[in-house]
Formats: sequence, C-alpha cells, structure tokens
Amino acid sequence: MAHTHESWQVRAAALQFEGRAFINGEYTPASDGRTFPCVNPANGRTLTEVTHCGPAEVEAAVAHARKAFDHGKWPALAPRARAAILKRFAALIREHGDELALLETLDMGKPIGDSTSVDVPGAAYCVEWFAEAIDKIGGELAPVDPSLVGLISREAIGVVAAVVPWNFPILMASWKFGPALAAGNAVILKPSEKSPLTALRLGQLARLAGIPDGIFQVLPGGGDVGKALALHMDVDCLAFTGSTGVGKLIAGYAAQSNLKRVWLELGGKSPNIVLKDCKDIERAARAAAGAIFFNMGEMCTAGSRVLVHRDIKPQFMAALKKAAEGYQPGDPLDPSTQMGAIVDSIQYDKVLSYIDQGIAEGATLVHGGRAAPDRPGLFIEPTIFDCPRADLTICREEIFGPVLSVITFDDVEQAIHIANDTPYGLAAAVWTADLTTAHVVSRQLRAGTVWVNCYDEGGDMNFPFGGFKQSGNGRDKSLHALEKYTELKSTLIKL
Ligand code: NAP
Ligand code: MG
Repeated sequence: MAHTHESWQVRAAALQFEGRAFINGEYTPASDGRTFPCVNPANGRTLTEVTHCGPAEVEAAVAHARKAFDHGKWPALAPRARAAILKRFAALIREHGDELALLETLDMGKPIGDSTSVDVPGAAYCVEWFAEAIDKIGGELAPVDPSLVGLISREAIGVVAAVVPWNFPILMASWKFGPALAAGNAVILKPSEKSPLTALRLGQLARLAGIPDGIFQVLPGGGDVGKALALHMDVDCLAFTGSTGVGKLIAGYAAQSNLKRVWLELGGKSPNIVLKDCKDIERAARAAAGAIFFNMGEMCTAGSRVLVHRDIKPQFMAALKKAAEGYQPGDPLDPSTQMGAIVDSIQYDKVLSYIDQGIAEGATLVHGGRAAPDRPGLFIEPTIFDCPRADLTICREEIFGPVLSVITFDDVEQAIHIANDTPYGLAAAVWTADLTTAHVVSRQLRAGTVWVNCYDEGGDMNFPFGGFKQSGNGRDKSLHALEKYTELKSTLIKL
C-alpha cells in the first residue's frame, strides 16, 4: 500500500530507535556512558541519544575485527557461501526498506520519496551486486618460463574501516561495506554523527543475515572516532567518503601510523556545460535544476556550476527558473516533497553565508536566496546566481547546498578552461547535438565521470565512481571497487 504524508507521520511517531554501537554482534553503550543527541533537522526535535564511542570502543571493535578476520571463518568461506549470506543481507535491507527510509529521512532531512526510491533500494542493490559478482571473478596465470607456475591472485586486505558522510548515509556506507565484505574483509563502519541511525540499524540485519560477529561493526561518534581508526596500527585499510580537507588529514594519519591503504572519495565543484548547439534547452535546464537541487544540493556530484553559451542563455535561464520552482522545500515526510531540510544548523549557516558572499562579490541573485519562510526547520530555497566572473567564491568552493552558480561563455575552449580550472575533478557534463563535439569535450574534461546530454544518470553498479585531482583516489562501484579491498599476490611455483 502506498504511504501518505499522514501514514508516514504515524509511523514516524511510533518508530523505535537503536542508538548504541554495534560491536562484536551486540548493541553496547560506551564504557564511559557518553552520548550525543540525534536531531531531526526538519523540526529541531531530538530523535534519540546515540552512543559516542571513545578509545575503549575503538580498541574493542578493532580487536574483534582482527580476531574475526585472522582466525574466523568469513575470509576463508567459499565465495559462493559469502555471496549467499550477503544476498540475505540485501533481502533484509529491502524487507526493512520503509523503516530504513524513515530513519534516513528523520535523521538527515531528505525527502521520504528519495529515501524509499533511491537510498535504501540503492544500498540493497549494491550489496546484492557485489555478492553476485564475487564468485565469478578469478585470478590470472602469468605467461612465465615453463619451469614455473605463476599465479596472480587477490586476497582480502584484512580490517577495513569505512568512514562515511551524512548526505547519503546508507548508500555511501553500502558502496564501502558491499565490496569490502564480499571480498572477505572485516568492516568497521563509522557513520557521521549527523546521520548514524541507518548504519546502526544495519548491525542487527547483518547479524540476522548470518554475517559473523566482528565482521560487521558500527561505531557512532564524531570525527575523533574516524581519526582513531585512521591512526590505528591494526586497521589495514581506511575507505573514506567526505570532504577534501578531512581526506587530507586521513592520508596524513595513515602516513603517521602503519601506511594503511587509504581510499578517498572527496568533494567536487562539477561543471555542467550547455553548448550553443544543445538540442533540447528545456530538458538541459530541467536536468541542471535536478543536478543541484536534488538532495538539497548536498551531493558530491552536484552540478553546482552551469556554464552556458551566451547565445542561448536567455532561453536557458527562463527554463531553469521554472524548473527551480518545482523544488520548493517541504516536509520531508510528505511523499510529494522534492526538497527537504538542510542536515544541521552548521551546514545551514554555511550555505546562507555563501549566499551572502555571492551577493557581496557581485553575483546577481536570479532565484531564491532565502531561508524558506514559514517553516520551523532548516530549509533553504533553491537558489540561482548569475555570475559575472568564474572566480567568485561561490564559483570555486564546494557549498554543499541548493545554490547554483551560472557562468556565461562565448566559445568551447573557454568553457573547457573554466570547467577544468578547479582543484576538483569528480564529475562534469556537456550538452551538445554534435557527436564529435561530445567526444572531444568529454576527453578534455578532467573528471571521473562525464555525462553527455544528461546529468546524474547511471544509478547502476557498473560504472566506477570517483574523482580526478583533489576529488580523491580509487573508485567505488563496479568491479574496480574490489581493487580497494584486496591485495594482489604473486605465487611462483618451481616445477
Ligand atoms: P566530512 O566532514 O569530511 O566528514 C566525513 C566523515 O569523516 C564523517 O564521518 C566525519 O565524522 C568524519 N571525520 C571528521 N573529521 C575527521 C577526522 N579528523 N578524522 C577522521 N574522520 C573524520 O564530510 P561531510 O561533511 O560529512 O560530507 C560532505 C563532504 O563529503 C563533501 O565534501 C562531499 O563532496 C563529500 N562527498 C563525497 C562523495 C564522493 O563519493 N566523492 C560522496 C558524498 C560526499 P563526523 O561527521 O561525525 O564529524
Ligand atoms: Mg540527525
């Protein structure tokens, strides 16, 4: 039965929250009893108190993970057997889909229609995809001297810590633990303190699916928990999604400790280029609005810079403003809401201060620009700036909110120069009717993903996802993700 606004509210009022850490198969409070409040940004109410893990919990979780990996059965299971357990895990995520979606929406403010259609099914699909893949990929036989048999194989890396952000909490987590568990590792998940609830709920579902104790653990807490994991001598790999600033710190922690493998999925300032020969300007404008206003703009791949050719700009801007009107902020529990609340007051203040800075530096506000009136929570209108230059702060820094900077160009070379003139390189898009232009421009864009005549397409697992330059290293999704969670081994046998 389809849920209504009212039925989601009723379910939300009756929801039970698990706020304790999940360590070695049990929910446990911190040894010092420390907690932090988990707040619903749509109304400011505290949902529950959540365990703030400290050094004792980090030590315990790493020791359990170490033991489960070094002496337990998980890494030694036949890939087919691990796959069966992970497929059960995926099925349980689907079975509890409404509950997980509700937790996600209450915790971080995203529209319930997105949590139910994107985040939760996406996480289940990711776990299932890697489960299905893992018993179908083998090693290699090296073409060596006939007196040798040369085997090239991949082995699980060991204890993997996954430190993830709050914008797609369950989905970003699944992009790490899906491939890492499939490859046979022990995973310690550190969700953001802004959105820990779905990760914690997953602990019990993992256990129900048959994942052994110590193989999947969840440590809620702040950045100090992520730091302790990144500095830990018994953590073999740190898979991170978050800001470029924290990513640099994590690379440093690895260097200071055991040179653990570090994989970084970081920020972006992605250019969305609309060329003069764009065939369907209305469609490009709708996609441009979706690229920045979906998920309140709290998206690493947000198309936060639109580069539009001067000749088509009037028509494009009119269509863009019309499309933006479809993203008026609303109650995240209303299934018709397209844009929800900003995750917390820190992020909210940051976004509003970028809007002020845009105005102060001379950009023209063409749409939105205010905290949404008549709403008690943390809502900001979809905002569009027409920028006189590409070097304004709002054109250069990642805002991570519903703020779009439009920059005008006169020829393709200029557009490519502006597009690449950024420390980031996560994603980019180009709109053109010409096949050659599409290929030539795509090749020149320094970004991990390039969309042509679309934006944010390709929700399936087949595409590697990650960045060039300071948007990070390594790739989530696709079979390439398994490279992060395995070590290559050469075995040479003399005959
Ligand atoms: P963040 O502040 O960097 O935090 C990410 C995670 O790191 C959180 O779990 C955070 O914990 C933890 N953390 C904070 N300080 C730490 C430290 N010193 N050592 C270890 N861990 C630490 O990023 P965010 O604000 O959550 O997320 C937004 C950023 O993520 C944006 O830059 C966005 O572009 C990026 N992002 C990238 C991708 C991608 O795939 N490339 C996807 C989504 C988001 P607490 O939150 O508990 O402090
Ligand atoms: Mg919250």
